[in-house]
Amino acid sequence: MALEEYKRKRRFESTPEPPPKVEKKSSHRFVVQKHRASHLHYDFRLEMEGVLKSWAVPKGPSLDPADKRLAMQVEDHPVSYFDFEGIIPAGNYGAGTVMVWDVGSWEPLSSKPAADGSYEVASSAEASAQLQKGDLKFRLHGKKLNGDFALVRLRSGRPGSKGTEWLLIKKRDKFATDGYDIDQYDVSALTERTLAEIAGDAGSAEWESNRAAVTTSKNAWLAGSVAKLRKRAAGPDKKKAPTAKAPTQRKQRKQRKKRRAA
Ligand code: MN
Repeated sequence: MALEEYKRKRRFESTPEPPPKVEKKSSHRFVVQKHRASHLHYDFRLEMEGVLKSWAVPKGPSLDPADKRLAMQVEDHPVSYFDFEGIIPAGNYGAGTVMVWDVGSWEPLSSKPAADGSYEVASSAEASAQLQKGDLKFRLHGKKLNGDFALVRLRSGRPGSKGTEWLLIKKRDKFATDGYDIDQYDVSALTERTLAEIAGDAGSAEWESNRAAVTTSKNAWLAGSVAKLRKRAAGPDKKKAPTAKAPTQRKQRKQRKKRRAA
């Protein structure tokens, strides 16, 4: 049930991704996959309820509490997706290269901090309730990401909103890093390879053809959000410069007149 959308989007005879299977038992692991599809993004996944709850984060997670990172909730993934690193062939959903950027475990946290501002470890049931409510607090123990975070769902009242937009925010704690630059941590947590090296394993020529093939509407939802966010960041539009259209048309009319007169 939980993996229907995952199954519907994929053809398992032509992708190396694992088939859909809901696990009976959940441990609390997390994975962040760097995914160069038509748009580079990071997939943030928390193991809970027998699947990997998943968000696509265009700019990737940050340890800087000032960064509120857009996180688009996407379809649940099977737990066996956890260590998937490699190439999704051209023509498949999400075609491109996948790196396991970070792995580790996570703990559910209380929804409200204690008097001293710290968060207590909570139960899996509380995590499920928080996810439902759209305000999930958790603590990560990863190779790159550590400390307390929140995933907060944006209000879906706005026109055009699908209710899948969340923000991933680092809480202020001893792991908070002001000015965190994700590009400085650019190798696989499993194999220490870069995306280019992962892509190269099966021939970089194939990688080039992947890039051309995936510019379809498949990632339009993400492209739209990224464009909106960029526009917002760039501020209000500058007035458009006057175009050269008008004088040219005038000139053409004049020339026609001349011809008729001749
Ligand atoms: Mn992805």
